[in-house]
Amino acid sequence: MSLEHMSTADIVSGPLEALSFALPARVTFSRNVFVPITNICRNACGYCGFRRDIGDAEARLMAPAEVETLLRQAKDADCTEALLTFGERPYEVAGFIEKLRRLGYESFLDYLYDLCTMAIRAGLLPHSNPGILTFDELERLKPVNASMGLMLETTASVDAHQGCAGKEPELRLWTIEDAGKLHIPFTTGLLIGIGEDWGDRVRSLELLTELQHKYRHLQEVIIQPFVPKPGTRMADVPSPSREVLLRTVALARHLLPADVAVQVPPNLTEVAPLLGAGASDLGGISTVTVDYINPAHAWPDVANLGIALTERLPIYPQYVRAGWYSEALAPLIGKLADERGFRRKKTGETMAG
Ligand code: SF4
Repeated sequence: MSLEHMSTADIVSGPLEALSFALPARVTFSRNVFVPITNICRNACGYCGFRRDIGDAEARLMAPAEVETLLRQAKDADCTEALLTFGERPYEVAGFIEKLRRLGYESFLDYLYDLCTMAIRAGLLPHSNPGILTFDELERLKPVNASMGLMLETTASVDAHQGCAGKEPELRLWTIEDAGKLHIPFTTGLLIGIGEDWGDRVRSLELLTELQHKYRHLQEVIIQPFVPKPGTRMADVPSPSREVLLRTVALARHLLPADVAVQVPPNLTEVAPLLGAGASDLGGISTVTVDYINPAHAWPDVANLGIALTERLPIYPQYVRAGWYSEALAPLIGKLADERGFRRKKTGETMAG
């Protein structure tokens, strides 16, 4: 039976073998550089190994010159995406604004805007992951971002998010909805294994489906497994099993509209069975930097995955073709995209697609 004819109950608790299908006709990824501009965050999620307290020796706010060096390395390594990742609303943390002032900025949004324009000048398409933003903040950043992202994670209220102002599901859904109103190609996702149950996963995917029917701006939904990190509140909690991941990928493919790709991270999971259950994208793969969120898990070599891959940009082909980008990004997208909206191949390139 095909996935579309199965019931949610079949997918969640039926025979696992029934969730094994042919690999998708096309599996995509983007070549990115992970730029961890600050690890200061107003939240303190129970699973987070990235965040640091402001007084910690490892607390960081990257200077623009440091970012520029990384962007140049990424350009030389043939990347197309600058993935700007940082803690949520770091300026709400006492002491952060002084750090920002030392770099010559009064506003974090101005700083971020400048880093995005720096990436565009370097020949990379910015994708910012800014956490909760207001409509006006999203509107300001839209012209300098090819796409943006915010993990919904879950609609459940979980202990892992205790004391995290930004992890209220309604707030996250509002930001995702505002991005839709603004026609921002958007990435979201579920974090699996943080205390949610099957009902929560179904509810999360149904709410994302509703938003997609209204705004058609969700280009991908990541199904990301929780990974325990030493020194965190959830250090002893196990990752979700392969079975749970496989069923969740199938559920996502079953519930989400067909124009939303289901993405799985190839440095955290064995991707082949998940591709057989409905995933079709491997997300951003960096050859320049580690995955700062899961630094113990190296990116695979895309040439040796044993899967034919098609390289895309951080803005999916349908949004390239529909012109969902600003004049500031148009020359670069015109240069990097082919006529279908995927990454333009260079002469002699052999990657499938
Ligand atoms: S997971 Fe994100 S939001 Fe949560 S503490 Fe870490 S950086 Fe902040």
